Amino acid sequence: MSRSRKPDWLKMQPPAGREFTDIKQTLREHDLNTVCEEANCPNLGECWSGRNGSSDGGTATFMLMGHRCSRGCNFCDVETGGMEPLDPDEPTNVAEAIAEIGLDYVVLTSVDRDDLPDQGAGHFAETIREIKERHPGILVEVLIPDFQGESDLVRKIIDAEPDVIAHNVETVERLQWPVRDRRAGYEQSLAVLEQVSRESDIYTKTSLMLGVGEYHHEIWQTLSDLAEIDLDIVTLGQYLQPSLTHLDVERYVHPDEFDTWRDVAEQEFEFLYCASGPMVRSSYKAGELFVDAVLR
Ligand code: SF4
Ligand code: SF4
Repeated sequence: MSRSRKPDWLKMQPPAGREFTDIKQTLREHDLNTVCEEANCPNLGECWSGRNGSSDGGTATFMLMGHRCSRGCNFCDVETGGMEPLDPDEPTNVAEAIAEIGLDYVVLTSVDRDDLPDQGAGHFAETIREIKERHPGILVEVLIPDFQGESDLVRKIIDAEPDVIAHNVETVERLQWPVRDRRAGYEQSLAVLEQVSRESDIYTKTSLMLGVGEYHHEIWQTLSDLAEIDLDIVTLGQYLQPSLTHLDVERYVHPDEFDTWRDVAEQEFEFLYCASGPMVRSSYKAGELFVDAVLR
């Protein structure tokens, strides 16, 4: 299949409906942006629905600590460098907006802040606490940086008691570079997840992009390595090239193959669940799937 032509299964529906416009308005009132909108995520309609106390657990993802990253991964569209100071009001603002919207499940992620003394771990932890205080009962998932492998910084996140701690290995070991920034690494990312698993009862999660040149046996090995550290949840999705200057797509993985990998992950490696599909992203329907697989 030509790499330049997207297959039909990647065509997306634009989000619409009252729920979508209501949430959007509240976010603008609080001057907040979600990854869902900024990344023009194809799953927005699905993820934002099922909110307001519904047992489906509507999900939105908030990006903390600015729009510029101290790293430059070759698959990612976030701008690199020119780091801005932290907004000390952000934890409160985010918490207030989330309480007002009435989301059941929220995902917090951030750019990497290697420029800050604690790499932003304290700010992340404060945001989790503010949300839990204002909106008891909400489930909070955090998608954290590797904090350069500093275990005391990972500990700060654990101590804030989110419900799920995610950190993405992104790809198989052999392809960490050129896919990720050179400061990231397979062993370092596994160590972050392993620490959370070992030191707490918080659920752990990671995500891999397929289609960047990995072989089947390498996907299998990665799942095996993740099972070895007692990881709970894994997601697999298709890598899509944000622009021509980013990493090429090596192949478009057929939906049937994604189904096969989901079965392998759940049946062979016994993860709590595996979300796997062309459009799946780390936070794809995170609330709904978590509630179904873990809380029911
Ligand atoms: Fe993008 Fe994260 Fe890499 Fe930064 S660390 S460039 S936000 S993927
Ligand atoms: Fe938002 Fe993540 Fe869902 Fe995309 S997959 S709409 S970023 S919650």
